[in-house]
Amino acid sequence: MFATYPPAGLARRTESLSSSAIRDLLALTARDDVISLAGGLPATDLIPIDRIAAAAEAVLRTPDAVQYCETAGHRTLREVIAARESVERGGVSVPTDTVVVTHGSQQALTLLAQALIDPGAVVVVDEPAYTGALQVFSIAEARIEAVPITETGMDTDELDRRLTAGLRPTLVHTVANFHNPRGVTMSEQRRRHLAALADRYGFWVVEDDPYGEICFAATDPADGRGTPPPPIACFGDRVIRLSSASKILAPTLRVGWFVAPPAVCAAVELLKQGADLCGSSMTQLMTADMLGDTGWLAVHLGTLRREYACRATALTDALDAEFAGLLTVSRPTGGMFAWATFEDGTDTTALLQVALQHGVAFVPGTAFGSDSRYRHSLRLSFAGSTPTVLADAVRRLGAAHSASARGL
Ligand code: PMP
Repeated sequence: MFATYPPAGLARRTESLSSSAIRDLLALTARDDVISLAGGLPATDLIPIDRIAAAAEAVLRTPDAVQYCETAGHRTLREVIAARESVERGGVSVPTDTVVVTHGSQQALTLLAQALIDPGAVVVVDEPAYTGALQVFSIAEARIEAVPITETGMDTDELDRRLTAGLRPTLVHTVANFHNPRGVTMSEQRRRHLAALADRYGFWVVEDDPYGEICFAATDPADGRGTPPPPIACFGDRVIRLSSASKILAPTLRVGWFVAPPAVCAAVELLKQGADLCGSSMTQLMTADMLGDTGWLAVHLGTLRREYACRATALTDALDAEFAGLLTVSRPTGGMFAWATFEDGTDTTALLQVALQHGVAFVPGTAFGSDSRYRHSLRLSFAGSTPTVLADAVRRLGAAHSASARGL
């Protein structure tokens, strides 16, 4: 039916569109015989189906749930989020009007990029970076500048040097808690440094935080805290903080949000009017019902943390045993990902093809940035599989590695 491809008549911006390597991989790994450690999917077996059903039943009886809502989100949910954010920020009051609810935090990234970035503007990202952010910023025709991630988050000293040398970003995007894909958490010192740089040079910081609640071990070696340091937003006014219900409740709700100064909220609201008029009142009210049920939520988050901790240990212990010295593996303290690097020169993009034949999938390091330094690295998600399945996945990976080393 569609004889010619690419069809004539598409806009110029579509020429630079490229598909996310991870989204493409999801299609390949949907096969029943593949154990996928590739996607950033939360554990399906830990999604609170019964509580979601109860929330749906409860809110559906209210007329609001079946109607359009305000573009910035249903006020009930915005109030719940504002209250939660105030707690996150150590009791500093977060006004409801500074909260905007979006269709997942991915839409927050898209709309913020439209509101804040002119074509050709410089956007700083982590290296390696969250691929969804790379996609958004390249669609916005930003000039992307990558700053390396260290064990304590984005290397703000390196950013400082580049700023001193004349770099003038409009926006810096970072995943400060349990980084996707590296797994590390930004130290308080770096958070303060980044916020101070934003004030000095007048750029926005987008603090993208879908994983902060999934903390299961001490993240700050200095004081042995079990939770990440305070949000970057505690240390400056030019910080826009994003979060999401996807990893703690369910991705299907498509509820994300951000907190930003009123002028940014107002601009995004206008863009969102054009994009979708408003989000789903139904899933927003369901999310408010669940996030507002603090007793239930504490128990649910406790279950997630315990189970994810157990899965993370199962994966990293199995990798250590299988590859003994050939693979350096991170020790996750939260989130959903382990990051590993082969010490024997294995190219993980090539290994993936063999791994798929052996029934296991991961994301090769090169998917997260242009730097060839990640050729030997891979991201593995421990979230979606039980310890027994993770052990099986690692055995398959070991077999794939041996086969590829023998050139099979
Ligand atoms: N930011 C980061 C760092 C992510 O890892 C993800 C999802 N993988 C998102 C944003 C978007 O998530 P959602 O749209 O489901 O809220």
